[in-house]
Amino acid sequence: MKKEYKKLFQIDGRTVDLVCLAEKKAKDEMKQAEEIAEYNQLKVLQAFQKNKISETHFIGSTGYGYDDAGRETLDRLYADIFGAEDALVRHNIISGTHALSLCLFGVLRPGDTLLAATGKPYDTLEETIGIRGEGNGSLKDFGISYRQVDLRDNKPDIDGILNCLDESVKAVIIQRSKGYDFRKSLSVEEIGDIVTAVKRKKQDVIVIVDNCYGEFVDVIEPTQVGADLMAGSLIKNPGGSLALTGGYIAGKREYVELCSYKLNAVGIGKECGATFDLNRSMFQGIYLAPHIVCQAVKTAVLAAYVFAELGFQTSPAIGEKRSCIIEAIRFGDPRLVVAFCQGIQKGAAIDSFVVPEPWDMPGYGDPVIMAAGAFVQGSSIELSADAPMKDPYVAYMQGGVTYTYGKMGVMLAVDNMIKQNLL
Ligand SMILES: *Cc1c(COP(=O)(O)O)cnc(C)c1O
Repeated sequence: MKKEYKKLFQIDGRTVDLVCLAEKKAKDEMKQAEEIAEYNQLKVLQAFQKNKISETHFIGSTGYGYDDAGRETLDRLYADIFGAEDALVRHNIISGTHALSLCLFGVLRPGDTLLAATGKPYDTLEETIGIRGEGNGSLKDFGISYRQVDLRDNKPDIDGILNCLDESVKAVIIQRSKGYDFRKSLSVEEIGDIVTAVKRKKQDVIVIVDNCYGEFVDVIEPTQVGADLMAGSLIKNPGGSLALTGGYIAGKREYVELCSYKLNAVGIGKECGATFDLNRSMFQGIYLAPHIVCQAVKTAVLAAYVFAELGFQTSPAIGEKRSCIIEAIRFGDPRLVVAFCQGIQKGAAIDSFVVPEPWDMPGYGDPVIMAAGAFVQGSSIELSADAPMKDPYVAYMQGGVTYTYGKMGVMLAVDNMIKQNLL
């Protein structure tokens, strides 16, 4: 096959040798990912059968969307897969940020405090919380205070969290994935440790987990270790690359209900909302998700071995336990970041001819470069790479709906860097 890479894609022989060597070394780690996927597929299939999913669930609704069996059953299906009491899975939850915003506005009230237990939440939540911006209807504008406890040596600072957990703290937010930080993603077990500790001190505190990029990377999810709510995006892991848009929230029934009031109207909540023709792709998406996530994880594992070989620091490092699909590579140089992202773009089926440049994306504080050639706009379960243009110039790569497509992307990224004489 080495010849084809050179012939069909004009890849330098050095690049092909490097990637193929890295792939050999990565074999055991890739096998582990396949075992996790196998378990998760059994879990998903069992939930499909338990909920008696059939053709009728794929028929959508219009208008108010009363009695939409597909929508209601999809909620049940998600709840069962994630071991939660209830779920809210909707195409009109427009993104992961929206899902998380619904969780926050759903359960917090004026006078309450939100405590971030794993450092500053993901960039796009800064304006939702009111860390950035003013007078725009953020939590802060509604009299909800915010406090944060940073990680300590890459781990949750449980003592610090407990010290901040006074009477006013109504909710604690935990971010599983590294986001745009060069840190370890939290394992579900570590999330469980935080939940146990905070509930021991304050039983009624509501623990919310930002589960973006985490679904199906492990065999259990945060709702199975006591999280009250978790949320994510359907154009990431659980949409299995087939959902055309959407987000989900899963957790305790009463809190999911409150979130649905924020999405729709107080008192109406989950019972309304037309689904048009979108149910089928959401069902099929979660059906495939464990497998697709596995392809993404294997792509990330390959990248870790390739860039370790080239002498760069990565997170996760080779051999390190994974809890999300991101591979972060610390380049320390803006030219390398740009060349990497532009190379990833070259491996896409869609828009491979486009050359991404850094720009001011809505919701982000720094210019961001994004490589995304996807069937679904912005879908980052499809191979994608992005980087905020700031020191220490780390690129975050994720996705890859088949391992081979992922491998191509990684190969072209390295090749682009080699051809620009940056390596
Ligand atoms: C992607 C992501 C979000 C939300 O992003 P959207 O683009 O709004 O879907 C939030 N937190 C983390 C950790 C993420 O990776």
